[in-house]
Amino acid sequence: MSELQHDLQERLSHLHELGLHRQLRRVDSSKGSQLTVDGKPLLNFSSNDYLGLTSDPRLRDASIECIRNYGSGSGAARLLSGSLAPHHTLEEHLAEFNQTEAALSFSSGYAATLGTVTALLTKDDIIIIDKLVHASVVDAARLSGAKLRVFDHNDLNQLEDILKWTRKPRTGGDAKEGRRVLIATESAFSMDGDLAPLREIVRLKHEHGAWLLVDEAHATGIFGPNRRGLIEQTQTTDGVDIQMGTLGKALGSSGGYICGSRKLIDFLINSARTFIFSTAPIPAASAAATAAIRIVGSAEGETLRTRLWSNIHTFQDKAASAIVPIHVGDESRAVEAAGALRDRGYFIPAIRYPTVARGSARLRVSINASHSTNEARDLRTAINSILCA
Ligand SMILES: *Cc1c(COP(=O)(O)O)cnc(C)c1O
Repeated sequence: MSELQHDLQERLSHLHELGLHRQLRRVDSSKGSQLTVDGKPLLNFSSNDYLGLTSDPRLRDASIECIRNYGSGSGAARLLSGSLAPHHTLEEHLAEFNQTEAALSFSSGYAATLGTVTALLTKDDIIIIDKLVHASVVDAARLSGAKLRVFDHNDLNQLEDILKWTRKPRTGGDAKEGRRVLIATESAFSMDGDLAPLREIVRLKHEHGAWLLVDEAHATGIFGPNRRGLIEQTQTTDGVDIQMGTLGKALGSSGGYICGSRKLIDFLINSARTFIFSTAPIPAASAAATAAIRIVGSAEGETLRTRLWSNIHTFQDKAASAIVPIHVGDESRAVEAAGALRDRGYFIPAIRYPTVARGSARLRVSINASHSTNEARDLRTAINSILCA
């Protein structure tokens, strides 16, 4: 065996021993919340397709029409010849939907955050993140080289202490004045399903002269009078400098975006490496996302959102978002519970380290508008009986 193969074998065995080895499951068909996995039909409670738009005929038709007009690929990066009309139309819709001056789309939400944070910050700057923020923010922070400070999940006192520290003179004499300070958090947290206190964070950022990035991946389409997200719901649009989101969850397509001032977007076009050095997203993805924004912003969007919340509350009356974690703790026990649920016809992932901390494994239930009330209720009964057995 070569050294590489030997090394890989040891590392894989280690993952197996810890109950942390993961593998792909091939999904042979996926329609609404119905999946077929290994020939077995399963009800999908793991999708981020919160409003059921991935199988909406209007998104499908917009994609097909776009492929007919523009082809299957964009052919080049946006700054070359890849800046196709559907990308511009999408960005106009995104800016209007999120009430910002401008928007920029990326090939994924991950790329949006990575490109933005690394463009804005240098090693002389400071980034402050919530302990539970998504891996894309953590990776962006590390890659930027900025000094990284972490506050306990939603702990405003710790955030305030760190903000005060950023304003103290540096040891060695030079003031920290002039350093950029960026706070980054999610609005609805992806593995815990709880919400960030955005109003208080905005108050602190103003008080201490910091900038704020909010990742709305799990909030778009779900919160706010016009379903724009938790920023809309908490009326903090003016206080959030950088709104980040994905087209791959409630918007039923694929890609990511940043919404903000025209200067911010102009700067990112010129500096965000994940934007500059990457082929433009396929135009059909932009066309589908534009169709989704139109639906979410319409009266029908409200109908879908109401159905979603009714399902969420049927499953768990106090849930704060469409993500409802069922805490199990032990990694192997979580995997067993997911297997037992599969036997009963439910597809629900066991979330383990490194996605969450060791020993805090959980079943992560995602509720969608395409589920029926009975399905949500029956799942609750099934989970109770499996975990109490
Ligand atoms: C899914 C997700 C992302 C990444 O978005 P993609 O478009 O899937 O790359 C970023 N942040 C959070 C909180 C997410 O859940």
